[in-house]
Amino acid sequence: MAATLAFTTAKRLESMSTITSSPQFDLQPYKSLENEELTARIRAVRDQLGPELLILGHHYQQDEVIAEADLRGDSYLLSQNAADSTDCRTIVFCGVHFMAETADILGNRPEKLAERNGQRVNVILPDLAAGCSMADMAAIDQIEDAWEQLGEVLDTDDVTPITYINSAASLKAFVGRHGGMVCTSSNARAALEWAFKRTGRVMFFPDQHLGRNTALGMDISEAQMPVWNPFDDDLGGNTAAALQASKVILWQGHCSVHQMFKAQHVAMFREQHPGIKILVHPECPREVFELADESGSTGKIIKTVEAAPPGSKWAIGTELHLVNRLKQQHPEQEIHFLSPVVCMCATMYRIDLAHLCWVLENLAAGALVNVIEVDEETARWSLVALERMLEVK
Ligand code: SF4
Repeated sequence: MAATLAFTTAKRLESMSTITSSPQFDLQPYKSLENEELTARIRAVRDQLGPELLILGHHYQQDEVIAEADLRGDSYLLSQNAADSTDCRTIVFCGVHFMAETADILGNRPEKLAERNGQRVNVILPDLAAGCSMADMAAIDQIEDAWEQLGEVLDTDDVTPITYINSAASLKAFVGRHGGMVCTSSNARAALEWAFKRTGRVMFFPDQHLGRNTALGMDISEAQMPVWNPFDDDLGGNTAAALQASKVILWQGHCSVHQMFKAQHVAMFREQHPGIKILVHPECPREVFELADESGSTGKIIKTVEAAPPGSKWAIGTELHLVNRLKQQHPEQEIHFLSPVVCMCATMYRIDLAHLCWVLENLAAGALVNVIEVDEETARWSLVALERMLEVK
């Protein structure tokens, strides 16, 4: 497991530009400090740097970390906040690497740089090993290879590539260059509708479940959605005929957290808690998504619970930290985690107070560590795809 993580991290780092200056302070001693001391030291740096520093926290972060964030939200909302900020010069992104890349692209887009007389906003990821297992399932060389193979059996001018925001900047740039767009879990349907006005087919990556669940709701059948296996050199494990008959070509990727929710968990909660409602993220597999009463992005899940009357009963299928936080914030409701198995996002969990304090104290001492900077060409094309996403609500 450790070897696999080290390998994926090394691969990811190859594909993104990072600048790590020599830290003034070593990380190791921070790991033995108590949370109370770490929190006090984090707050001291925040006071010292004031509005020049912006700490962003994704909903799936640990409670201790999210408590130190200036803003919390899902990946896109946080990046948008980062992009709109005027005073900040450094963003510390408590999330995973693709989110830091997106913040760098939006925060340093040409008009923002012009407003700041060319001064960049530095985006820091407290632990470079905080990746996303889903994003790691689609590497740019695999996508380019698939596109080339598709070109041998169909007209790729009639295919719009769409990448979920949970993907590396290189994939966002790929879709930008090929007339496609980035989507989120909130606008995936609008993105597909946008694409079908332009071409007869879509290639959707890296999350097969979001692609499938969305397309099924648009009367596209499972038979029209072949799945591309990047490890099968022969048309991703498909026949030419299946690809030619397709409407949406799905990439064989998934979220390791959301794929843990099963149909039997839904059945168990319905049996043991009559009247309970099942609320899931669309990254869940089809059978769970279809059995659920409601579904939506993290933002929608939060709003749905906030709007529910006291006494409502929920079994929620998304990351554990968020569900536990909802449980604490809404004692007037009965909230369960939709799985008997603990499934949290292990890579999000890598960001802890020790890493946060370490990058902040280095920053205060003038040492920038773990800066994520997307190269200019990749950022330019990624921005094209991100701007298309902004236009399609
Ligand atoms: S919850 Fe899933 S999609 Fe989100 S960051 Fe973790 S692995 Fe990636």
